[in-house]
Amino acid sequence: RKHGLAKYKELIPATRSGKRIEVAANLGSLAEIKLAKEAGAMGVGLFRTELLFMQGKQLPDENEQFETYKELLTAFSPLPVIIRTLDIGGDKPVAGIEFPKEENPFLGWRGVRMCLDRLDVFKPQLRALLRAAAFGNLKIMVPMISDVEEVRKVKVLLNICREELRSEQIAVGDFELGIMIETPAAVLQADAMAEEVSFFSIGTNDLTQYVMAVDRANAQISGLYRTSHPAVLKAVELTCEAAQKAGIWVGICGESAADQQLTEAFVNFGVSELSMSPASILAMKKKITELN
Ligand code: PEP
Ligand code: MG
Repeated sequence: RKHGLAKYKELIPATRSGKRIEVAANLGSLAEIKLAKEAGAMGVGLFRTELLFMQGKQLPDENEQFETYKELLTAFSPLPVIIRTLDIGGDKPVAGIEFPKEENPFLGWRGVRMCLDRLDVFKPQLRALLRAAAFGNLKIMVPMISDVEEVRKVKVLLNICREELRSEQIAVGDFELGIMIETPAAVLQADAMAEEVSFFSIGTNDLTQYVMAVDRANAQISGLYRTSHPAVLKAVELTCEAAQKAGIWVGICGESAADQQLTEAFVNFGVSELSMSPASILAMKKKITELN
């Protein structure tokens, strides 16, 4: 079976009607680069930076982050690498960030919300990303967006960081900025969001949780957690429509990107990139070539 899929490794898959789809990898560490390349990944659709922050006794500094991002970008260059800014909340401990005790961590101080309050954490990450951008095809992605103002604030910060680096005569590279669409608020404001960024990546894990009002980690109600629910698919469709109208591209990086029962719907909505765990990539490439 495995042997039969090997021929898809180098393939750039397209549907029978000729629509090309990028199949990229979700990664959480540099250790997975080799696996992703062997699996035929056409880039990285989601690099989760959380692990980098959770493994040490203190926060990773700018240089440590720069070295990590640089290695990742270099390994995949010229293929695109989407690095997500820190998406951490009260449900995960990080040495160096004190989280308040919250009744509802998933509705709390996480992702971009925390980052915008803790510039001592956020700015070193943005600076490291801007520096690493010189070494490959970087796309920066911001998680947990629920208001257009958050996107604007991140853009202002990126400009400030770029100017700082320039005045310090440190090289910076070009990048694209995108956001995750994973809250209902972001879906409902997707038109306005699309004016601010170059791409959307739909986080169907959280989007399902927030659209369905079902805790993604609560086993008791896991039967209600359905990424194929019509309400969730409608949210994906609305996001794609807004993106198309604004002329930006959309990908999916939640687990349902690898769900072959949803692939046809996603492609019909206009999704042009699917990012998933490396183990699912070859089979997805095959699936795409079989779509009409
Ligand atoms: C998502 O929410 O779908 C996603 C890809 O991000 P995470 O699973 O890291 O929250
Ligand atoms: Mg998420």
